[in-house]
Amino acid sequence: MITTDAPSIGATVLGYPRQGDKRQLKKATEAYWAGRIDADELTRTCRDLRRRRWEEQAAAGLDELPSNDFSLYDHVLDTAWMLGAIPPRHRADGVADNDLDRYFAMARGTAEAEPLEMTKWFDTNYHYLVPELGPQTQFVLDPGKPLAEFTEAREAGHLTRPVIVGPLSFLLLSKPAADAPEGFEPLQLLDEVVEVYAELLGVLDRAGVPWVQLDEPCLVTDLSAEVLERFAAAYRRLSEIADRPKIMIAGYFDRLGSAWPVLAGSPIDGLAIDLTGPAAGNLEELTRLGGLPGKRLVAGLVDGRNIWSADLSAALDVGRQLVGLADRVDVAASCSLLHVPLDATAEAELQSSYAGWFAFARQKLDELVVLRRGLREGAAAVASELESSDAVRASRAASPLVTDPLVRARAAAIDGTELARSAAYSTRRAAQRDRWQLPDVATTTIGSFPQTSALRRMRAKRLRGEISADDYVDAMRQEIASVISEQEELGLDVLVHGEPERNDMVQYFAEQLNGFLATRQGWVQSYGSRYVRPPIIVGDVSRPEPMTVGWSTYAQSLTDRPVKGMLTGPVTMLAWSFVRDDQPLSDTARQVALALRDEVAELEAAGIGIIQVDEPALRETLPLRQQDRADYLAWAVESFRLATGIAAPSTQIHTHMCYAEFGDVLQAIIAMDADVISLEAARSKMAIVADLAAAGYPNEIGPGVWDIHSPRVPTREEILDHLRTAVAAFGDRVWANPDCGLKTRGYSEVRASLANLVSAARLVREQSAL
Ligand code: GLN
Ligand code: ZN
Repeated sequence: MITTDAPSIGATVLGYPRQGDKRQLKKATEAYWAGRIDADELTRTCRDLRRRRWEEQAAAGLDELPSNDFSLYDHVLDTAWMLGAIPPRHRADGVADNDLDRYFAMARGTAEAEPLEMTKWFDTNYHYLVPELGPQTQFVLDPGKPLAEFTEAREAGHLTRPVIVGPLSFLLLSKPAADAPEGFEPLQLLDEVVEVYAELLGVLDRAGVPWVQLDEPCLVTDLSAEVLERFAAAYRRLSEIADRPKIMIAGYFDRLGSAWPVLAGSPIDGLAIDLTGPAAGNLEELTRLGGLPGKRLVAGLVDGRNIWSADLSAALDVGRQLVGLADRVDVAASCSLLHVPLDATAEAELQSSYAGWFAFARQKLDELVVLRRGLREGAAAVASELESSDAVRASRAASPLVTDPLVRARAAAIDGTELARSAAYSTRRAAQRDRWQLPDVATTTIGSFPQTSALRRMRAKRLRGEISADDYVDAMRQEIASVISEQEELGLDVLVHGEPERNDMVQYFAEQLNGFLATRQGWVQSYGSRYVRPPIIVGDVSRPEPMTVGWSTYAQSLTDRPVKGMLTGPVTMLAWSFVRDDQPLSDTARQVALALRDEVAELEAAGIGIIQVDEPALRETLPLRQQDRADYLAWAVESFRLATGIAAPSTQIHTHMCYAEFGDVLQAIIAMDADVISLEAARSKMAIVADLAAAGYPNEIGPGVWDIHSPRVPTREEILDHLRTAVAAFGDRVWANPDCGLKTRGYSEVRASLANLVSAARLVREQSAL
């Protein structure tokens, strides 16, 4: 037997995809909701899925497996449930007969009780449910789920590490309950909530849990010294507990920054960090601190959020620098593998042209095992694996599927003049008023009209080849004609074609652009039972053919009113795709922008003189650390301007953004210099209007006056109220529109709501001296 003083080296992951290889979880939960299977069958399916997930990870050779990373819906909701943070409306009698239905009521709502709000999990495309807390919240521990999963795993022969959202992040991700007093912040409940975690640790210890992983991703955001001190105190308290599992804190998605000294000085037993992408700087910070003597370090060497196979030589280099900086080092993915699809070998087409390029969750496990071996036994022991990893990188770099010299030359030739419209806004405004003769407070919509099931069936049939291309075009044209006549009858001023041909605003363009790939089984959880298949940007992007011109000009041929062209902007195209890791995001954005620029020019030439370029993701992908934001916003704005700068002064460029905290991006919104911006505003009661006015926003604006996320029909009076607020701030630069696309709504609500919108706009025109 060989004994050495070298620290022990292992391999683990922070979490694994939940859905199963055939999306069993989605199918089972949806079948349960529809009443097609009962709770027992749902439970059996989930148990089976969990067992297979553990088997997969163990078979790959991981040393320690996570548990409780599985969820029926969402891990933040699970945490709220575990802490007893169930809002009174979901506790009420009649909402549910049992715990399972009560849990789903919190997630999805019932006729009596609205669900919890849903929002983005950091800068990923996963959505979590936002717990609602107030001074009345009584935390009561229910350790059932983590305990049951731990026991279940142990019975299957795996000693697992339960994964639980930590107390600080739980509170920072929560929001004040509607009836909480002004000024209440969930963080005020830290001491109470920590006591529940203390109790939990005791329970887990008695069950034989050796390590627990407390996820604290909020540590990678800019926290004040005061919050960091409260965090430190919370973990001192948890560490003091005599009989408890070892505590590992996981802080992923970026650098730990000012949290580093607090973590290094904390009595916790282990720390999981991200060392990929912007978080690579953690290595330097850790080294500067002198490492984590006495602690366990879980090193996120493989990107858990992207689908590229890792550069194993580079990762091994980083790993080697870490060994010796801690007592024990585990190689891991940077974050839970929830954010990538399950298995690249399910993609036969990708495997043939791009062999070895992609590593989905299963393949990442293999990479980790190679890295562990390289660290334990030296690089020579994994020489052939390193060689093939290097070869993959070389083949990507040399591949004509990646590099398109024409695209590169064109991007390199940009000298800055392309980034500005040919005239200043005041000149453009005069030219546009002259050309379009629109009334003040002109009415329009955001783009999509209801996607009826007949429409979806039609697209599916086309995909399966059951109807001909011509029949499909006819069907879409019929739909466009009906959407145009609906809008004419309603009396809207600027019409849209309704986007019936689009499955998704990113996928639709990705399918038509060179440089993007589609997967067949690359499902990633968006929220609950909703999964998406993000496209992969594999190479230089170009536009072989017009993408929207046919549909838009057809729509325009049916009416005398202007029809607005509809494109998805570069930032959003990147945000909802897997992006290249071999060039800066700004380069990729620039290529997408050039493709869109050609589309703008072609729409314009075909007589479409109002063009909207949607950027709903602009705020979502804002870097988590303040210091990285200016760079990001600079290229984000530049790519929008590159896409739209070609438009003539009399062409009106619109943009649209969805609900977000716009406060951080006000200057960027101004710098985009769209002639008109529509934003979601109804839910926040027009707060954005005052913010943009205070920031000096100079162009036209359509703050959404109707919350399209609710089936409720807004009254004419409430729309009028919203419009008056907007007119008070922006005068005749205001537009009237809903606050997002209408694709998820039904026609009856849409008609009634738009009728109220049109009549409210008329009233405000008559009543205000514009
Ligand atoms: N034009 C798109 C639509 O109306 C915009 C959607 C979005 O902002 N998410 O559907
Ligand atoms: Zn929107």
